Amino acid sequence: MGEPDEDALRRQLLSWYRARRRDLPFRRTRDPYAILVAEVILQRTRVAVGLPYYERFLSAFPTVQDLAAAPESEVLRAWEGLGFYGRARNLHRTAKVIVERHGGVMPADIETLRALPGVGDYTAGAVGSIAFGLRAPAVDGNATRVLARLYRIEGDMSRGTARQRIRAVAADLVPVDAPGEWNQAVMELGATVCLPRRPRCRGCPVAAECGAFAAGVQDSIPSGAARAPVPATPVAFVVARNRGRFLLVRREKGLHAGMYGLPGGEVRDGESPKAAVRRHLAALGVRCGAMEPLGPVRHAFSHLRWEGTAFACAAVGKSSLAEWVSRDRLSRLPVVPVHRRLLDRVRK
Ligand code: SF4
Repeated sequence: MGEPDEDALRRQLLSWYRARRRDLPFRRTRDPYAILVAEVILQRTRVAVGLPYYERFLSAFPTVQDLAAAPESEVLRAWEGLGFYGRARNLHRTAKVIVERHGGVMPADIETLRALPGVGDYTAGAVGSIAFGLRAPAVDGNATRVLARLYRIEGDMSRGTARQRIRAVAADLVPVDAPGEWNQAVMELGATVCLPRRPRCRGCPVAAECGAFAAGVQDSIPSGAARAPVPATPVAFVVARNRGRFLLVRREKGLHAGMYGLPGGEVRDGESPKAAVRRHLAALGVRCGAMEPLGPVRHAFSHLRWEGTAFACAAVGKSSLAEWVSRDRLSRLPVVPVHRRLLDRVRK
């Protein structure tokens, strides 16, 4: 089989999408701001997980002006638990740019969208095509997989000729009259039919046009590059209490920048977890009494893992580097989710 018949492919996929698409809240709006919020959330998050966040985020910040005017801590609090917090910080910055430089109106061209903080080719293409009907592709992981299989493109999709080829076919395929629907149709097929493992080819609306299916190689495309194992960082944290308040440190940089976390951190070679906690507390100017074990800490991020122990203790000391936080304030601050779970254990 040669290349797919593009007209047939467009026709079949669009008619399947119109009949079978999932009814999702962000598909019922043409508000470019709401569409931007949805696209940023769904970049790294599955729909089922992202939807409640989308709805909560929009009810907290219904307009781009509301988001621009909000303190960063409120934005991060609304995002807490979604991970990849750089997305929230960039979305916040983008809202400010839209208000300050574009009169509060989302730019309606790809170049200007692309120049917004944290907006890459995918988000610019998705917002441009869905909100403004611009003829631009939106190629996320799902779309990459679908196009690689349809066109039987092999190799590592993240670079080189395979990547260029995906971009070229994606750009060619976008129809002039329904770019937003088309981009969503390709992604919908990837999310519900053309699954990473065991694609449901027998029920696929474009199976007749699919190069990988014709050759029986759909399970091995895309091959991708093997992911390097994520290294473990030994850590120890402490819930330090003083008269109903808890000691929290605002993270200034790194993946949790702008969020609050428990004192503690890396355990050095040869150091015990308790000694590490005392060292971290001493650096903040705080001393603690006997430490009770609170349980293990295990959490995987995209490029590292935390493996360690948490403790609870009574502590004293004023610190300019950390803050004693009441329970009420704790509920309003953005807190590193692993740490909030540890705090919840102590609060019960
Ligand atoms: Fe994906 Fe199979 Fe459909 Fe091809 S036929 S697009 S591999 S689900």
